[in-house]
Amino acid sequence: MASNDLFSLQDKVIIVTGGTGVLGGAFVKGIANAGGIPVILGRNAAVAEQRAKEIIDNGGKAMAVVSNVLDETELVKAKNSILEKYGTIDGLVNGAGGNLPEGVLQPDADIFSMNMDGMKKAMELNLWGTIIPTQVFGKVMAAKGKGSIVNISSVTSKQVVTKVLGYSMGKASVDCYNQWFAVEVANRFGDAIRVNAIMPGFFLTEQNRTLLTQPDGSFTLRGNLVIQNTPFKRFGKPEELVGALIYLLSDASKFVTGMQIGVDGGFTVYSGV
Ligand code: NAD
Repeated sequence: MASNDLFSLQDKVIIVTGGTGVLGGAFVKGIANAGGIPVILGRNAAVAEQRAKEIIDNGGKAMAVVSNVLDETELVKAKNSILEKYGTIDGLVNGAGGNLPEGVLQPDADIFSMNMDGMKKAMELNLWGTIIPTQVFGKVMAAKGKGSIVNISSVTSKQVVTKVLGYSMGKASVDCYNQWFAVEVANRFGDAIRVNAIMPGFFLTEQNRTLLTQPDGSFTLRGNLVIQNTPFKRFGKPEELVGALIYLLSDASKFVTGMQIGVDGGFTVYSGV
């Protein structure tokens, strides 16, 4: 086997939830470049279709499907349309998620009157928005006897990052689920289904733009603190997540399950001193 075959996703149908987002866009391109067929799943039909079109115009294959990751009925419809078109599902990237403004605790806010509904919403999106698609699409992979699921965690699941408790608890729950589900699914299907996570550091995207940048594009105090506490002294570029993603989706990681790969410029290991 040539060394590059190990990382090939040739003709593999891989769903990317939140494929309409900034990191999701890099995931979708990376999968197409590795020979795979990305299914761009999101709530914004125009963006999903535009991204699919770009890949098709470049000679690849891709599909756009509109679905809310918290709505099982919509996800089942999405599954049926994917199976109708390609007859199979080989991988799932649970990329939909992010912080929600109503789950943010401002520094001067009363810590004993936190917006619990806001935090619950952030937790729900990140945790159940990972579990529900895995229930719907994972079943197809289990029936086929092969598949790779990649969850998207965050460094906030491991280190305290102020203001975003609901989001952090959501991602910490994703870490728990990532390990738990990897084991339980292996107990039932052996090495057929693998479940792993990527733990990104800080990347400038839509869901964190107002926390990290001013309207004029300059960094907020928080944005500057992130850079100061990242040994590489910069934010990540979305395409820098693609190597870890292709590794986890492909046979290169055949004996890997329940793991997390940090892609964070050193943020998690640095004490700040
Ligand atoms: P983004 O806002 O650009 O993309 C998120 C995408 O998810 C959007 O397209 C959004 O429409 C979609 N989405 C949100 N709720 C949805 C729902 N209910 N159903 C379907 N789609 C929905 O943000 P991003 O930073 O690219 O986020 C991608 C993932 O990466 C998220 O899970 C986020 O938490 C995670 N992450 C991001 C960073 C970062 O620094 N940007 C760091 C760690 C983890």
